[in-house]
Amino acid sequence: MSCREFAASVHPYLDGELPVEAMAAADAHLAGCRDCAGLLGRERQFREVLRRQPREAASPEFRAKITALVRREQRRVAWRPWLVAPLAAAVAALLVAVLLPASRPSAPLLAELVDKHIAYAQIERPVELASNDRGELEQWFQQRAGLRVAVPDYSPAGIQLIGGRLAEAHERKVAYIFYEKGRTLLSVFVVPVSGPDAHLTGRPVTFRGQEYFAKDLKGYRTVAWTDGRAVFGLVSALDYDALLECADRLRLERAERNRL
Ligand SMILES: [Zn+2]
Repeated sequence: MSCREFAASVHPYLDGELPVEAMAAADAHLAGCRDCAGLLGRERQFREVLRRQPREAASPEFRAKITALVRREQRRVAWRPWLVAPLAAAVAALLVAVLLPASRPSAPLLAELVDKHIAYAQIERPVELASNDRGELEQWFQQRAGLRVAVPDYSPAGIQLIGGRLAEAHERKVAYIFYEKGRTLLSVFVVPVSGPDAHLTGRPVTFRGQEYFAKDLKGYRTVAWTDGRAVFGLVSALDYDALLECADRLRLERAERNRL
């Protein structure tokens, strides 16, 4: 078995779903290959971290704000499961209207992204393109806005891709990718930047040798970094371990894409 073959079968390997001969071949390869043993360890850890995540999470402040709005409007509609309480469409529309024009040009980028995360979590159809097909989404971003985006696969860790949309932040087109982990939304933003004008702030964190900024904003956790061509921002109620794993995965995916 080659490294490439092992990488392609790491998930069925972990799930114990490989045929016996393939399993034996994988074990034999692992015994002699430090890289693949490392890959396996990371996958296993990633799953472990995600298993520990709470099934449902929303900040108390945000919950209170929403509850207050709901009291004024009691009509029920179908909601994304991330919502902690059923809300009326009118309320959601209002909320989006209130939150989205927060395009104060001076607002820090991450604050803008968190506002989007909060706003879009409240509307019934947050995605423009509903798809769990990574290739389809990547093509869509490319065709719609010329954005070269790598859409990582988090499904083995139980985080499902649900779609994407184009958004505006810092007066430019931004790729917004939606994932959900049970009742929790994970937003992944890719913001093209020119040069080092990223202005990222937060607590510097080193994870697997890479630098990130971690920051709590409005009750959510954010992890951000830049590679000089884009700023990447993850926003969720998932904990930092999970966000850093997801960030690392996106980085690897992008590096892989750039090699091709
Ligand atoms: Zn190998």
